[in-house]
Amino acid sequence: MKKIALLPVLLFVPFFVFLGMAGAVKTSQSKAMTEEKHPANPYYSRTDTTKLDLPDSVWKKVLPPDLYEVARHAATERAFTGKYWDYDGIGTYYCAACGNALFSSDAKFASSCGWPSFFETARRNSVIYRKDTSHGMVRTEALCGRCGAHLGHLFDDGPPPIGKRYCMNSIVLDFEPERKVR
Ligand SMILES: [Zn+2]
Repeated sequence: MKKIALLPVLLFVPFFVFLGMAGAVKTSQSKAMTEEKHPANPYYSRTDTTKLDLPDSVWKKVLPPDLYEVARHAATERAFTGKYWDYDGIGTYYCAACGNALFSSDAKFASSCGWPSFFETARRNSVIYRKDTSHGMVRTEALCGRCGAHLGHLFDDGPPPIGKRYCMNSIVLDFEPERKVR
């Protein structure tokens, strides 16, 4: 008798169907938005602390019109309209005109005034001050310590123990979320 070699018949398990179904699961790696985009502004830097003394015509060229009006002409955004008055992200606020570090979110507090409010600056010289007698008031104007951009005003009605309130325009602030350091 002939010995029949039984060739094992492979079971055609629908492998490929499985492969197709389980295939390439996209891991959408959300890139941390760490790069601020200031393509038109070569003076913007988060690391260079050299003071900037640029003519108005240069700022007009490198800043978006709405930022330019606040930063260089002390315009004020309407209360409750800025992007940061009610924002409580953890990170650092930089000058939107030059990249100078201004405030930590740790120093931000909920104020009912409609503008982002802080009780202290990120660094001692983050902000400089000037007496402002416009609009029939005597106020302390707060300006960027690096580029002189108008930021807002400083008042003495902040929370204890410091008692200060930096009342800022959102548009002159660039917020950078805190990076996770391992
Ligand atoms: Zn600045």
